[in-house]
Amino acid sequence: MSYPEQFQGFATNDPKDWASPKLTSYQPKNFGARDVDIEVECCGICASELFALKNGWSHEPMACLSSKYGPKTQVVGHEVVGKIVAIGPEVTLCKVGDRVGLGAQASSCMKCSRCTSNNEQYCAKSVGTYCDPYEDGYVSQGGYASHVRAHEQFCFPVPPEIPSEFVAPLQCGGLTVFSPIKRNIAGKQNPRVAVIGIGGLGHMAIMISKALGAEVYAISRGYSKKEDASKMGADHFVATGEKDWNKGLDDHFDLILNCASSTTSLDLNALLPCLKVNCNFVSVGLPDIGEDFNVKPFSFFHNGCNMGSSKLGSREEAIELMQLAVEHNFRPWVETLKVSEAGVSEGLTRLDQGDVRYRFTLTGFHEFFGT
Ligand code: NDP
Ligand code: ZN
Repeated sequence: MSYPEQFQGFATNDPKDWASPKLTSYQPKNFGARDVDIEVECCGICASELFALKNGWSHEPMACLSSKYGPKTQVVGHEVVGKIVAIGPEVTLCKVGDRVGLGAQASSCMKCSRCTSNNEQYCAKSVGTYCDPYEDGYVSQGGYASHVRAHEQFCFPVPPEIPSEFVAPLQCGGLTVFSPIKRNIAGKQNPRVAVIGIGGLGHMAIMISKALGAEVYAISRGYSKKEDASKMGADHFVATGEKDWNKGLDDHFDLILNCASSTTSLDLNALLPCLKVNCNFVSVGLPDIGEDFNVKPFSFFHNGCNMGSSKLGSREEAIELMQLAVEHNFRPWVETLKVSEAGVSEGLTRLDQGDVRYRFTLTGFHEFFGT
């Protein structure tokens, strides 16, 4: 059996096998009135997928193992670009044939105060694009697949100017950094932004901060990314492996955006004094569940700074981000890999080793799946 009864994707249900998902067929979720089916063209690889496949964010077994119906294995992938091939009877935001992007959120209640104020990513009933149970017990399946089913709200129109392999990383990584950068520096005169962790999210954060008019500091553990950061538009580069790296940076930043996937090299007691009065340290980086922030209360005291997080972004912000990329002509730095068991495995393994400059996009889906 094949589409529409069955999708095909690369799946695993054992964290030990995180680097080698196998091709499998599975039942999609029930088709909701505002759901659409996307025939996948390409899909980015985000570090969140490593955490999901390794079950690194949870003390419980992988969610798919207890799904009430549908697959007991997990397909990840949440930087999807593809074509709409089916729409539910109440869909108004897109039509069959449209090229759309889908990020890490696939559903929300659409009625609560958050959903009705461009904060649907914080809806209490939000469902992620992969590894997340719907109310009926189906665990969502992502975009390393022939097709993905999602609510129309989360399928964003894509500007024709940007080729799909560059659109893909904007759907999760790009949107995740755009939202807090915009919310923290909008309306400020000559804002300064520090970006920590120059990986998939971090490299897009540099370009987006520049496009939004900021002076940008790239903060990395060593010097290997210095030249690249400058090409991305960073005005300054700081290597935290260097002694006295924070010298002269007191009272300096309107925003420190942490994009690192681990807290092991994060010296918060040295970083927080670098913020201006009442400004924010925002961590979009989400480390393994065993890691914590290590910070002294006095580190907040002398500038009244704040620490927090940020989740994805809204539909409105996703559309705005893609427009910004067109207007300022920036594109994620992408390395493409042909989709297959070997291609997925290579992408996950190399991302785990930090061996990517700076985002993988899996391509060739039509060829592989015969769609
Ligand atoms: P990448 O692996 O591409 O980049 C992570 C960067 O973190 C590295 O390039 C590195 O930068 C830095 N880093 C610091 N310490 C370590 C360490 N011990 N091991 C490896 N890297 C380290 O990841 P992504 O950009 O795809 O994702 C970054 C984080 O953002 C992840 O935790 C991910 O789960 C999270 N995320 C959160 C979202 C949200 O909504 N909040 C959405 C999407 C992702 P350098 O070499 O410059 O130090
Ligand atoms: Zn992601």
